[in-house]
Amino acid sequence: MPTIDSHCHIGAGVRKSVTTDRLLRAMDDAGVERAVVCSVDQFIAVSNREGNDEVARAVRAEPDRLWGLAAVNPWFGDQGVEELRRSLDAGLSGLKLNSHLQGFVLSDPIVHPLVEVCRNYDVPLYAHTGTPITAEPFQLAELARTFPEVTMVMGHMGYTDFWYDAVPAALQSENIYLETSLIDFMNIQTAIEKLGAHRILFGSDFPESDLSLELEKISMLEMSDADRGLVLGANAQTVWA
Ligand SMILES: [Zn+2]
Repeated sequence: MPTIDSHCHIGAGVRKSVTTDRLLRAMDDAGVERAVVCSVDQFIAVSNREGNDEVARAVRAEPDRLWGLAAVNPWFGDQGVEELRRSLDAGLSGLKLNSHLQGFVLSDPIVHPLVEVCRNYDVPLYAHTGTPITAEPFQLAELARTFPEVTMVMGHMGYTDFWYDAVPAALQSENIYLETSLIDFMNIQTAIEKLGAHRILFGSDFPESDLSLELEKISMLEMSDADRGLVLGANAQTVWA
């Protein structure tokens, strides 16, 4: 089973800047076959169309290496719904939310129209978590219970401020997967024991963190080879393919 990184970024942002080539080199160095990418900074918050177009171009250029997510800010209302549909029609694989950057509370119904598009297209959403008061695990659990048919990925497992809530929140709704970037490996170990390896997705948050470093965390976890295969690739195949 190939190794799949469920959370990476590309784009020239105000704070974060990384080219697709640099990501591909990092993937080659770490032995990662495929990555799920989304844009950065202002492209997540404001200039959604520009960022999504760049992600779609990267996916078209590297169809065997990349899957892409559309970042859409729910404050754009109908325009945002249209942008998500347009991006999914252009070949992107799901929705990326960062309620901290986008300025809404993850459980606010303002995001429901976008999640309804995910339900209609049968695609997952990835939500950044860990930032008070906009991006908390239990807020994602509330959204997940409202839309049980939509697969939701809890980015960074609540790192940093809500690490303690990640597992209890995921226990509330079976459509939640936990993504492992940035969080420490002991919390991932606990999640595997309480939820099962079938609910965990390896991710790096490149370039925020390093692919090899994040993979090293997974290698330190105690679990069967079959479970490790789930975390490193098979679950991602289920969620994103
Ligand atoms: Zn990220």
